[in-house]
Amino acid sequence: MSSKLNLILIGPPGAGKGTQAERLTDDFNLPYIATGNILRAAIRDETELGTKAKSYMDKGELVPDDVITEVILEALGSADARDGFLLDGFPRTLPQADALAAGLEAADRRLTAVILIDVPDEEVTRRLSGRRVSVKTGRVYHVELDPPKHEGRCDIDGSRLVQRDDDKPETIAKRLAVYHAETEPLADYYERRGLLRRFDGTRSPTEVHDHIRATIATLRLEDEL
Ligand code: AMP
Repeated sequence: MSSKLNLILIGPPGAGKGTQAERLTDDFNLPYIATGNILRAAIRDETELGTKAKSYMDKGELVPDDVITEVILEALGSADARDGFLLDGFPRTLPQADALAAGLEAADRRLTAVILIDVPDEEVTRRLSGRRVSVKTGRVYHVELDPPKHEGRCDIDGSRLVQRDDDKPETIAKRLAVYHAETEPLADYYERRGLLRRFDGTRSPTEVHDHIRATIATLRLEDEL
């Protein structure tokens, strides 16, 4: 029997969720659903969702729960996500967590685990302020920690690297405040449900990955027994 992995990644901005997600979706062949990427694509394509989301995102605030919840529940119901998923950036509030629980239950599905990657605020600030993203490939760099071969250019195709608007210093502080107020309570929420697995995000990406992969592999085995 193949068991389905329904996973959530949470953690402050800059915890390395995207980096880990890239590796884990490869390891376990899971579709990756990242709300931030969906919203940024919507803004780029100037869709109705993008128009609704932009002003919130630019300020480092959360998009209203009902707007994002609808998008995510739809994505989880798609053929792609039927055999498992890795969700990054959702839920971010308790009402979103409740809506997700209800949506999954209605479809007779359940979460396998919630992976929390912990990183202290000063490290988040250092990481986000140096983060640069390729306008074309979406590949992420850091000016000190993971610089591209040629300054300001993506290694893959030479496309331009830019700073996300919400990685500017004032917005980083705001996003951290929002994280502590709105998203951190989810750790308790999922702890009480026996789903939370914590990881130390200050370790190297490879170490964090090794730990998470081992945990997921164990969970899957337990599920198959
Ligand atoms: P991220 O790339 O995950 O850091 O998301 C960037 C921005 O998108 C956030 O600062 C929010 O404005 C918005 N966003 C992403 N996911 C959510 C969510 N689950 N609920 C509300 N807003 C979100």
